[in-house]
Amino acid sequence: MGPNLILLGPPASGKGTQGRRLANSLNLPYLSTGAMLREAVENGTPAGKEAEPILERGGYVSDELMGSIMEPWFKKHRKGWVLDGFPRTIAQDDDLRRWLAEAGTQVDAAISLEAPKDVLVARIESRVECPDCRWSGQTGDLGKGDRCPKCGGRAGARSDDTLENFLSRFDEFALHTLPVIERYASVGGLIRCDATAPMDTVTHALLKSVQAIIEDGQKA
Ligand SMILES: [Zn+2]
Repeated sequence: MGPNLILLGPPASGKGTQGRRLANSLNLPYLSTGAMLREAVENGTPAGKEAEPILERGGYVSDELMGSIMEPWFKKHRKGWVLDGFPRTIAQDDDLRRWLAEAGTQVDAAISLEAPKDVLVARIESRVECPDCRWSGQTGDLGKGDRCPKCGGRAGARSDDTLENFLSRFDEFALHTLPVIERYASVGGLIRCDATAPMDTVTHALLKSVQAIIEDGQKA
């Protein structure tokens, strides 16, 4: 059974990239709640219809709606995972702890990706995503003709990537997610990481910290 890892950090701190890399290296399923919600919107599911106007103005869906989407996922994935975008609030973290406790498990590490606001703004302005395979990165990563480096699809700016959306999401992060980070800092299992370092450096540091936590767990 693999570890349960959550990624916490402000918008554009690299949660998606680092989350996928960790999941690949550790052979764990990866879930981005942002991509999951955008997919629900595109597919016109009831949850997607409820979420659409909220996502369009750069807001976050309610804890209740998020819980109803997430709970079935946790029932299906019980052998370790990497999670990006949940829990985003103390209430969501309470839900997560309850579901995991019922399954006899827990969050093994919470990763906090940390970067100053101005660095994040610069990133937002060059961020692109592929609608076909959900790859995301920077404009500089694109292939010829703005093609997705992974599947060759036509990548472009994310429709929710405006400065206004970023600033509102950043405020939400400071208000609701920072308390979750503080909680993990006080109960243990928090990995703080400088997210301004080059992506490979961040990945390497994270893998090292996560391996140490896994080994500690096996000794205990
Ligand atoms: Zn693609």
